[in-house]
Amino acid sequence: MRGAPGGPRVLLRRLREVMAEPAPAQARLDRIVVLIASNMVSEVCSLYVMRADRTLELYATEGLNREAVHLTTMQAGEGLVGLIAQTAEPLALSDAQSHPAFSYRPETGEEVYHGFMGVPVLRGGNMLGVLVVQNRTHRAYAEEEIEALQTTAMVLAELIASGELQSLGSPGAEPAARGPVQLQGVALADGLGLGYAVLHEPRVVIRNLIATDVEAELARLDDALGEVRTSIDEMLERGDIAHGGEHRDVLETFRMFAHDPGWLRRMRDAVKTGITAEAAVERVQSDTRARLMRVTEPYLRERLHDLDDLANRLLHKLAGQEMVAPRENLPDNAIIVARMLGPAALLDYDRSRLRGLVLEEGGETSHIAIVARALNIPVVSEVEGAASAVEAGDALIVDGGTGEVQIRPPPEVEASYAEKARMRARRQAQYRSLRDRPAVTRDGVEIALQLNAGLLVDLPHLQDTGAAGIGLFRTELQFMIAERMPSAKEQQQLYAAVFAAAGDAPITFRSLDIGGDKLLPYMPRVEEENPALGWRAIRIALDRPALLRIQARALLKAAAGRHLRVMFPMVASTAEFERAKLLVEGEVNWLKRQQSPLPEKLSLGAMVEVPSLLFEIGEIAQAADFLSVGSNDLMQFLFAADRGNKLVASRFDPLSRAPLRALASLLEAAGVENCPVTVCGEMAGRPLEAMLLVGLGFRSLSMSAASIGPIKAMLLELDTRPLTELIRREMDTSGTHESLRPALADFAERHGIPV
Ligand code: PEP
Ligand code: MG
Repeated sequence: MRGAPGGPRVLLRRLREVMAEPAPAQARLDRIVVLIASNMVSEVCSLYVMRADRTLELYATEGLNREAVHLTTMQAGEGLVGLIAQTAEPLALSDAQSHPAFSYRPETGEEVYHGFMGVPVLRGGNMLGVLVVQNRTHRAYAEEEIEALQTTAMVLAELIASGELQSLGSPGAEPAARGPVQLQGVALADGLGLGYAVLHEPRVVIRNLIATDVEAELARLDDALGEVRTSIDEMLERGDIAHGGEHRDVLETFRMFAHDPGWLRRMRDAVKTGITAEAAVERVQSDTRARLMRVTEPYLRERLHDLDDLANRLLHKLAGQEMVAPRENLPDNAIIVARMLGPAALLDYDRSRLRGLVLEEGGETSHIAIVARALNIPVVSEVEGAASAVEAGDALIVDGGTGEVQIRPPPEVEASYAEKARMRARRQAQYRSLRDRPAVTRDGVEIALQLNAGLLVDLPHLQDTGAAGIGLFRTELQFMIAERMPSAKEQQQLYAAVFAAAGDAPITFRSLDIGGDKLLPYMPRVEEENPALGWRAIRIALDRPALLRIQARALLKAAAGRHLRVMFPMVASTAEFERAKLLVEGEVNWLKRQQSPLPEKLSLGAMVEVPSLLFEIGEIAQAADFLSVGSNDLMQFLFAADRGNKLVASRFDPLSRAPLRALASLLEAAGVENCPVTVCGEMAGRPLEAMLLVGLGFRSLSMSAASIGPIKAMLLELDTRPLTELIRREMDTSGTHESLRPALADFAERHGIPV
């Protein structure tokens, strides 16, 4: 290699020596650029560092004017250096000045240089800076020289990420690697968490970048890759697809990547420049990451996760470390950062130490959201690049209300969030003080406020909130977080625990609501064009009666001597309800024959979620003992707007005339039959919506634990009489307004009702 006296390995060794010597940060950097320039036989070596404000700043140079250090800055995309930062690709030019992106900075004195080679300084796919060498001559840099400079850039990445250069930046313009970062995601579970980052998949810390024996490193790489391939093959053969949430298609993709010759070649080439096998895996992955993160095509972006996962497995093999989540030694105030996390994995962490969760993936209806809400942990999801932007132990703030994630926040930001957290805590204390007050409006209307629940962890909320009972117990959650189908006995145990926790309070169990978006990892996936309209809930129960029968038996046994209330989800017709009812009654008769103790009373209800049932309310109200409006599904079907699709989910307002007329006529028809009705969708837990429901005449609402306080606070200030009048008037006028929301908000404000 022409430009490397002693080769890259000598350079790496010298760099390591410089890093180990005690020296001020700037002096160390100055020595490093001299070393690199001399090793690469270049007149110039410069390091540009990416600042928190996304500007590149010249931090050190050998060969350019020293006065330009900390003065010359450029935006990503500006000039050749900016181009490298933008594309995350190396650039080698024999005549830089003829490149269209070349821009000349007079203060640097670079006009005399023609040869130019620059590489991105990357870590975990994050752009930390750009390293450049320049030559007076029209020099053609060889492929190995680019490799060598990239390897050198890795060492600099460690230096920047260590935080050592922080003091060299002016305030607000520190190096981005350790500076504050604000990321925006989707708010999944409300709450505000301040704490310290814990990486769910801890990164392997590469302690030794520089190889002593290249052949030995190549052999280590081959061996480790061989082991990873074998373990993937074994997992596929075992059909162990539920374990760890790994689905077969993910494993198939892993296998394909693990056998990709291009990937292995790039890692081997990196080792040949003198770095260890671990460092080579990390470098290739960092390059791939940086490039794929700029791709917008969703399929390719998805693949990035597979590649990350594979590289991580390989690193753990090389480092001889097991891939285990850091459940032990969890710090107080832990905020878990993960690319993806299953509900079972979340439940494995010590809840008392968790303050928040940041995910790169996982949607609104995902199971993790349901579990996190039950645990009262704020969650922000779809936070791109979170896992690589964060280092273990970094200060973090998760705002589950706005979807903001603050990484390494500056003191002012931290102070304002701390104030917000104090305000929240004060409000929560106010709500707690309402715990024992009956939920009665100013004009004496009593409203039953009940809880939505589904897991054991929900049960203490009954006590904490003073809720009147459990209006919706989503039995499918136990199935969704399990790795295999819960046995009849396990089901019975859970239901018995719910009865024990509830004391005399009523509990309404909902029979299994699976299918659609609620998939069980151990059940074969049915390909459906429109899963929400497909084979789900009571439809599965009627086609596979054993599922419902086992569950009904478990419920009946657990409810011995108690009042058992069960409702069926997604009932589309009274006939369907009657068929499900017959199945449950069959179990009652069976238990009678066994002389098994029975519930003291059995009430069977139907959820009103499918619009067809709205036109059969009279009949269903006669057949069922009670009704419960699943407004999440009812609204999605009334408006034909997928509740899980961001583009349409909030397009239509449930407070608009059409759904309100539907709800009013439902209430009227059910009233004729004396059939009680509850609302248990999300609507019931939002103050303004709940106010409307009470104004319409609903007297029973079921909601998440966090909503009980705010809803009760609203009710205590409400007089239903003027509200009901207002709603009647607004619904009857055939104006052009779409929603009653503004009129309701105005009403609440005029009457001092907290909504
Ligand atoms: C609903 O649809 O409103 C409901 C309560 O059920 P889920 O959200 O579980 O579908
Ligand atoms: Mg539903």
